[in-house]
Amino acid sequence: MLYFDYAATTPLDGEVLEKMLPLLKENFGNPDSLHAYGRAAMRAVDEARDLFASLIGAKPEEIYFTSGGTEADNWAILCGARAQAKAGKPRVLISAIEHHAALSAAERLEKEGFPVAYLPVNEWGRVEVSALKEALSPDVGLVAVMAANNETGAVQPFRECARLARENGSLFFTDAVQAAPYMPVDASDWGADMIAFSAHKFFGPKGAGALYIRRGVQIPPLISGGEQERGLRGGTRNVAAIAGLSAAYRKAAKEREENNAHIRAVSAAFLSELAARCPQAKRNGAGELLPGIVNLTFPDVDNAAFLTAMDLHGAAVSAGAACAASSVRPSHVLLAMGLSEREAGSSVRFSFGRDNTVEEGIAGARLAAEVYEKIRR
Ligand SMILES: *Cc1c(COP(=O)(O)O)cnc(C)c1O
Repeated sequence: MLYFDYAATTPLDGEVLEKMLPLLKENFGNPDSLHAYGRAAMRAVDEARDLFASLIGAKPEEIYFTSGGTEADNWAILCGARAQAKAGKPRVLISAIEHHAALSAAERLEKEGFPVAYLPVNEWGRVEVSALKEALSPDVGLVAVMAANNETGAVQPFRECARLARENGSLFFTDAVQAAPYMPVDASDWGADMIAFSAHKFFGPKGAGALYIRRGVQIPPLISGGEQERGLRGGTRNVAAIAGLSAAYRKAAKEREENNAHIRAVSAAFLSELAARCPQAKRNGAGELLPGIVNLTFPDVDNAAFLTAMDLHGAAVSAGAACAASSVRPSHVLLAMGLSEREAGSSVRFSFGRDNTVEEGIAGARLAAEVYEKIRR
């Protein structure tokens, strides 16, 4: 089997699982309990928070654990916008290429009556800083631009966007879910007010994420309940998943350079083999890209047919975001980059990861070329 869908999810790392198991079995306490079981569980949560904070250049009290990237995106956008509207700044600016987790939150705000504008991208899939500059006005309360896109791998000018937003008195949120495994995150240097993370994109457990909220930034909770997470995120903490998130991120950060170099070599081998065997395939996204994401248009094939045929031959690829795979809608990211509906509907994402070999990359390209010849209409 060839797994080329690391941008959709990654398997749980063995060392991370070892870290999690005792917290699911003998140390099963509720961290909010005052007895020894509870204290042991709280210790694990505190250690995980301290570790994760230190790895991303934040303070422990700036880290809030969530159920994943989607919850962190929703929290930042819905609650960031609501807090700012109270201060007379209801307008939201969000890039047109955000993950559906972020975009659908913005669409919900629109339905609630918030003015929302979508920032365009250039043909490389990168937000134009000049477009943000033009769109900023005193009533803009929240700006959201992701750190790197999950469909094309295009790294976004989030530092410049953060600076402009904050000069304007707007909150700046960046979704670093896809970027964090591959790009060093330094919250103190990034300049964002809020940053979203998800563990299962870096060999941690599914259903575990975090939102960094800069000290001094006040947003209401998305999920109310008990006093967990400084009263901002109710619900009994998923202790094992929280410990898993931090352990997985420590490993990802420690091995980042080495993994990136390896993944870049796999992508390069794939691309050169594909160029030789299937010159019609055209890459989407350019400029600074994450090392493993290769988005390609295979002219005149239906991407659903392409990935079904790849799957039959034992190779897992995707048509953009996994969450949208069951729908036939062409990718909003590729449309925003100027591709036609037909081109977007002929586009496929390969995303390579740390466990792929160079030989697998080459085999993937050969298979893609064969499948393309077989099914082109
Ligand atoms: C995967 C992903 C999400 C969603 O995270 P979940 O933990 O799966 O909810 C959000 N944003 C981006 C960029 C992603 O790649």
